[in-house]
Amino acid sequence: MKSKIKKIGVMTSGGDSPGMNAAIRSVVRACAFYEIECLGIYRGYEGLIEGDFKEMTARSVKGIINKGGTILKSARSKEFRTVEGRKKAHEQATAAGMDALVVIGGDGSFTGAMIFSEEFGFPVMGIPGTIDNDIFGTSSTLGFDTALNTVVECIDKIRDTASSHNRLFFVEVMGRDVGHIALNAGVGAGAEEILIPEENLGKERLVESLKRSRQSGKSSSIVVVAEGDKTGDSVFDLKDYVEQTLPEYEVRVSVLGHMQRGGSPSCYDRVLASRMGVKAVESLLEGKSNFMVGIRDNAMQLCPLDQAVKGKSKIDMDLLRVSDIMTT
Ligand code: ATP
Repeated sequence: MKSKIKKIGVMTSGGDSPGMNAAIRSVVRACAFYEIECLGIYRGYEGLIEGDFKEMTARSVKGIINKGGTILKSARSKEFRTVEGRKKAHEQATAAGMDALVVIGGDGSFTGAMIFSEEFGFPVMGIPGTIDNDIFGTSSTLGFDTALNTVVECIDKIRDTASSHNRLFFVEVMGRDVGHIALNAGVGAGAEEILIPEENLGKERLVESLKRSRQSGKSSSIVVVAEGDKTGDSVFDLKDYVEQTLPEYEVRVSVLGHMQRGGSPSCYDRVLASRMGVKAVESLLEGKSNFMVGIRDNAMQLCPLDQAVKGKSKIDMDLLRVSDIMTT
C-alpha cells in the first residue's frame, strides 16, 4: 500500500475499557505489516503534549491481547482543551515524525481529535473504546461485551443469595445516558425488571409490577437499574420507597461500580479490537481522516467523527419489547 504516512501514533484516552490493549496490539501489528513505524503515546492527550512516546514494534505488544486496562495508560487532559495545549501537542507530534494519529476512546476523545485535525490538518482515526456502548455509528464499542458478561456473572451470584433469603435486589449498573448495559445484561440474567434512562417506568408501576411478580409465585426478584435511570432519585431512594410501600419485602442494593470496567476482554471484544485496529491503520494509509471505525451488520464501517460525536446511540426497541415479554 503506497501512502504518505510513515509513522502512526496510537493512544488510549478517557475512561478505560477491556479490549483497549487488544486494539493497541492490532494498530501496532498492522503498522508492522505495512512496514510503517508506530509510536505509543502514554496517558492520552497529556502524553501527546509532553512528548511521552515510545517506539512500538510487533514484539512490544506480545502477551497483552488478554489483559484489561491499557498498557499505554489513559488520562483526561485539561490542557488539550486549550489552543496552546493543542499547539504543544502538534509540535511534539511533528518533532517525533508522527504523521497520523489513532485515538482509542469515547466521544470526548473524538471531539479533541476532530479539533486537533481541523486546526493542524493532522490525519486522525477513532476507535470506540467504552463499556457503555453509547457511541453513534457502531453497534458495539470495545469493552461492552466484556462488561455485559461481568454484569451477568455478578447478577447470577446475587440471585443465589436473593433466592435463598426471598429478597428483592436492586442492582445498579453503569449507563448514565443510555441503558444498553442494563437492558442487555438484564435480559441475559433474567431480571424481573429493568430500569433504563430511556423509559421512566414510574415508582407506582414498579411497585405494581413487583406485586404481580410475587403473586405469580416468584419468591425473589432482581431489578437491574442503569445509573442514569430517573424512576427514583437514586437506587437507594427506590429501595426506601419499595420498603415503605411493600413492607413484606426485604430489599437490598448492590452497586456494581468500577468492576464493570475491568477484567480480561471477552473473545468478541478481542476480535472486534483486532478488526478495528487493522481498519483504522488501513483507512489512514488510504488517505482517509476524521472517521471512527465501527461495526455494523458484522462488517467494519467508517462513520464521520462529527456524526459519531453528535449522533445518539439508541437502545434496541425490539430487545426492549422482548424484555417486557420476558418480565411478565
Ligand atoms: P468516556 O466515555 O470514558 O468518558 P471520553 O473519551 O468521552 O471517554 P472525556 O474525558 O470526555 O472522555 O475526554 C477525554 C479527553 O479528550 C479530555 O480529557 C480532553 O483532553 C479531550 N477532549 C474532550 N473534549 C474536548 C474538547 N471539546 N476539546 C479538546 N479536547 C477535548
